[in-house]
Amino acid sequence: MLAGRSTSPRLAIIVPCYNEELILPDSLNQLLMLLYSLIGKKQISEESFLYCVDDGSQDRTWEIILNKHQADEKVKGLRLSRNAGHQNALLAGLLNIQNNVDCAITIDADLQDDINAIPTMLDHFKEGSDIVYGVRQSRKTDSFLKRFTALTFYKLMRYSGSNIVFNHADFRLLSQKIIKELNNFKESNVFLRGIFSLMGFKSSQVHYDRNIRALGTTKYSLRKMISLAWEGLISFSQAPLEFILISGVISFITSIGMAVWVLSAKFFSHTTPGWASIMVPLCFIGGVQLLSIGIIGEYLAKIYLEVKQRPRYIKDTELH
Ligand code: UDP
Ligand code: MG
Repeated sequence: MLAGRSTSPRLAIIVPCYNEELILPDSLNQLLMLLYSLIGKKQISEESFLYCVDDGSQDRTWEIILNKHQADEKVKGLRLSRNAGHQNALLAGLLNIQNNVDCAITIDADLQDDINAIPTMLDHFKEGSDIVYGVRQSRKTDSFLKRFTALTFYKLMRYSGSNIVFNHADFRLLSQKIIKELNNFKESNVFLRGIFSLMGFKSSQVHYDRNIRALGTTKYSLRKMISLAWEGLISFSQAPLEFILISGVISFITSIGMAVWVLSAKFFSHTTPGWASIMVPLCFIGGVQLLSIGIIGEYLAKIYLEVKQRPRYIKDTELH
């Protein structure tokens, strides 16, 4: 046990919710039961609570949170003014409770992540870890497409130098020290996994099996999923820019080769006006240039967003 780390810390379980009316009542009950059992066993302090962040839902999500809060003050919440996205909802929750907890655990509202891993996470925290990553043991419950895209994403991230934890999403425990450190990351393009892997500090992992979603549908449309992966890649690496440089060098060398070939053909043999030898490099170089401009444009768009320094989320109502 580390000196100074409480044996019954104040814990907040943060749940981002976007249109979760179908599954939320059951999830809140399960989480509350766990919270009370941990308090009963003195593994966490009595000041611990659930913290639901309503990410601008259009259904009855906020009503459910409000009713639960009125019935039990251990359920607290924050409502955002509009849908700010999963990452921003998590950030809003974490920053809002930073002064009232010793540690926080973030978990999706559908409880696909195993809540039985939470006591083990707390043990790791008490043994001195500042970040405890929830890591999936397998991806059996995922579709082929999700498995394939996830694997490609992690490989790409690793290759481009970002050290994110394989098969870890947003189920994790964070100590207060880590949460406070988030104040120093002011980027508008938030990709929490990347941020935590940059922070350092003592970390550990807890392994668990992920369930399928019991009710409701995924709130991560293909568009949101691709934009999260893109966020991770563009915000945390310069590899795509290096890719442009490399393809530029390759096409430059190729075109020198082509020039040598064309000139020698002109001087040493009979040349007929070559349609193919014009069209092929024309299309190729045109394609490479457009792709390159596109990638530079993506960085430019991100910089544009960062420069404006707009708020990442806007708070509407808070339940204390
Ligand atoms: N979520 C959110 N804002 C969004 C999209 C999702 O707060 O814009 C929440 C959602 O309510 C859930 C979590 O993020 O608690 C993960 O979403 P989901 O389970 O639909 O993603 P999946 O497990 O399918 O990747
Ligand atoms: Mg889910």
